[in-house]
Amino acid sequence: MERVYIGLGSNLSAPDAQLRSALQAMAQLPGTALAQASSFYTSDSLLPGQPRYTNAVAALDTRLAPLELLDALQAIENDQGRERKERWGPRTLDLDILLFGDQLIDQPRLKVPHYQMHLRAFVLYPLAEVAPQDLVLADKRALSALLAQCPFEGLERL
Ligand code: ATP
Ligand code: MG
Ligand code: MG
Repeated sequence: MERVYIGLGSNLSAPDAQLRSALQAMAQLPGTALAQASSFYTSDSLLPGQPRYTNAVAALDTRLAPLELLDALQAIENDQGRERKERWGPRTLDLDILLFGDQLIDQPRLKVPHYQMHLRAFVLYPLAEVAPQDLVLADKRALSALLAQCPFEGLERL
C-alpha cells in the first residue's frame, strides 16, 4: 500500500462538478481508497485566454503500481471528456500524480515527483492541506521549503 497524492484540475464544463466526479471515480478504483481531499481552489490558467481553473489535491492509498494508476487516471480523464489537442489547452479534467510514496520515477510516461509541482501554488497549497506538515519528497525537498518559495498568488480558496 502506497500513499499517493493526485493533483486535480478542470476549467471546462462545470469544473467543480468535474472534480467531485473525479474524486468519486478515484475512490472506486481497485485496491484504492480515497483518504482525504483538499478544499477546492481557483487559479488563473498558466496560458492566457483560458477560463479560470478549479484545482484540488487528493490523498489516495493504493495497491496499484504506478503505471497501473496512471492508466486508471487517464481512463477517468477520458470518461470525463478530456480531449488532447494543444499542450496545456483547456480541459474538463487533469489528474496528475504528484507523489507516489517515497518513489522516484523517471520513465517516458511517468515522472514523479511531478516535474513542475514546486512552481505551482495551485498544487502546493492544496497538497499542504492533506499531507503531513513535515512531508519530505522522495528527492529530499521539504514541502515546507517549496511552500516558502511559492507565494499564494492568484489563488482563491473556495
Ligand atoms: P503538466 O504535466 O505540465 O501538468 P498536463 O497535465 O496538461 O501538463 P497531460 O496532457 O495531462 O499534461 O499529460 C501528458 C503526459 O504526461 C501523459 O500522457 C503522461 O504520460 C505524462 N506524465 C508524466 N509524468 C506524469 C505524472 N506525474 N502524472 C501524470 N502524467 C504524467
Ligand atoms: Mg497537469
Ligand atoms: Mg496531466
